[in-house]
Amino acid sequence: MSIQERIQHVEQRIAEACERSGRRREDINVIAVTKYVSVETTISAYKSGLLNLGENRWQDAEQKWKALSKEAGQTDEDSPSWHFIGSLQTNKAKDVIGKFSYIHSLDRLSLAEAMHKRASQLGITVPCFIQVNVSGEDSKHGMEPGDLMAFIEALQAYPALKPIGLMTMAPYESKPEETRVVFRALRELRDDVQMNSAHGSRIVHLSMGMSNDFDVAIEEGATWIRLGTILVGKEEE
Ligand SMILES: *Cc1c(COP(=O)(O)O)cnc(C)c1O
Repeated sequence: MSIQERIQHVEQRIAEACERSGRRREDINVIAVTKYVSVETTISAYKSGLLNLGENRWQDAEQKWKALSKEAGQTDEDSPSWHFIGSLQTNKAKDVIGKFSYIHSLDRLSLAEAMHKRASQLGITVPCFIQVNVSGEDSKHGMEPGDLMAFIEALQAYPALKPIGLMTMAPYESKPEETRVVFRALRELRDDVQMNSAHGSRIVHLSMGMSNDFDVAIEEGATWIRLGTILVGKEEE
């Protein structure tokens, strides 16, 4: 399938999920996750209009980031926004802050401190998602839901970080419907934080839904979906 056909297929399903849940298409943002594809494929995704690009490791992203920065510099096209979606080691924060427009994996204060330090040096504010382990799976990163309120308060000490929402990953399910409880729980957590935390009104976005389960995530309120395989493909090395 060509990238255009993939985009059409995904758009069709987004439209159907919006229809089912009474949501508007413009409230859903798509991140094309390029971690499984080459620099060339990433450039063609960008040229096809996928301006939000996601990667989960800086080592893998670096070449693409450089190539795209150059590509965008040479044309009048809009430059891409990069999203860091993988778990981030504290000592790697300095590599990604300033290059990625959004960080989706903020899950501990030591990382907040490292991110804040680098962002302050650069004089920028970094929008971030707080990653929450709603499913309780051991293998998933993210903080415990019960720790979220205190974490949001503690983040006030790091003004170079701007928390804008919550992020989660659902376990892979052969029946995507079974991920609904996870996505619903993240939405309820967001609603709870908005009502009950002094700084919760800024937490509006939900980064949730991947190739296997994005339809359900949209129905449950996702505002950012992260699509790799289904949208840009998966290339074998
Ligand atoms: C890889 C990855 C995705 C995209 O995965 P697909 O299933 O290929 O859509 C989304 N989010 C995160 C955090 C990822 O690591």
